[in-house]
Amino acid sequence: MQTISRDFFLYLSKNKTLNRAAQNWGGSIAAGKLIGGIDFPSSVPFIKDLNNQGLSVTVDHLGEFVTDRAVAIERANECISTIEMISAYNLESQVSLKMTSLGLDIDQQLVYENMTRILDTAEKHKIMVTIDMEDEQRCQKTLDIFKDFKQRYTYISTVLQAYLYRTENDLYDLQAYQPFLRLVKGAYQESENVAYPEKSDVDENYKKLIKTNLLNGLYTAIATHDDKIIDYTKQLVKEHNISLESFEFQMLYGMRNTTQKELVKEGYKVRVYVPYGLDWYGYFMRRLAERPANIAFALKGITKK
Ligand SMILES: Cc1cc2nc3c(=O)[nH]c(=O)nc-3n(C[C@H](O)[C@H](O)[C@H](O)COP(=O)(O)OP(=O)(O)OC[C@H]3O[C@@H](n4cnc5c(N)ncnc54)[C@H](O)[C@@H]3O)c2cc1C
Repeated sequence: MQTISRDFFLYLSKNKTLNRAAQNWGGSIAAGKLIGGIDFPSSVPFIKDLNNQGLSVTVDHLGEFVTDRAVAIERANECISTIEMISAYNLESQVSLKMTSLGLDIDQQLVYENMTRILDTAEKHKIMVTIDMEDEQRCQKTLDIFKDFKQRYTYISTVLQAYLYRTENDLYDLQAYQPFLRLVKGAYQESENVAYPEKSDVDENYKKLIKTNLLNGLYTAIATHDDKIIDYTKQLVKEHNISLESFEFQMLYGMRNTTQKELVKEGYKVRVYVPYGLDWYGYFMRRLAERPANIAFALKGITKK
């Protein structure tokens, strides 16, 4: 039953008509609950509030699978102005973005031009830019872009997904680049030709990746809401005397708020992923796929405004 609802929401997440309708409907649906706001300035109070509680942030301007050049350039401009505002407001925040929002499905050259402008700004302000990982079809291209830019820029990181068979090799391959990596379970609908179909296998692989990366001394973001993985990490760092400065937990905005604060109290670094913007549909559907209880959240969001 759980698998059926997961597949159903992931199927819906790719529906272009519903996506367009959702944009017209308005982003206020989940603002302040699952997304920061409809634009960056309206998200600033939420970010400041998180920072005041000892939580760092990474912001993501929602929007993916862009097919129009002008929109991809606009997305890059938005990212640049967000980095500038983070710096101007002195926020404890990084930036996350998706390669398909910068034109990965249109033209590789366009992505390179957009990324160059973004990373020039990020280097100037010393603000980390993390390339989110999308579906498996785009994984190699995304890693190639990361590896290329990482040779020239410091403030760039990316994400590896534990559900993909290929990830263990990717982790090994990336070691040479001394990356700052975010490790996740993976959020897209993938075939069993490329991804572990069983959740227990994904969890085991996730633990293996966390262990390998931390023992290799590479800064690791463990992005999960799963207590078992969090406890595993706590135990691992204790056993191996790993500094609390060499990793961080990450969680999505609006999820496990109490746990986020408890971890900070215990001395762990925690970063909250705050998405903002009108293009909330795909993000929202993937969250429903992960945990249908999030529906309750959303409905409250609609009635409360
Ligand atoms: C900061 C961040 C960035 C991410 N970036 C990417 C990315 O770039 N690419 C990508 O593919 N995916 C990304 N993801 C999503 C990720 O891949 C998973 O789909 C998502 O985090 C759900 O997996 P989980 O590890 O939280 O555990 P799950 O397997 O979904 O949940 C395990 C258990 O955790 C508990 N739990 C989960 N959610 C909640 C909740 N809201 N409240 C209470 N308990 C809960 C439940 O007990 C559940 O059984 C990101 C996730 C985070 C947190």
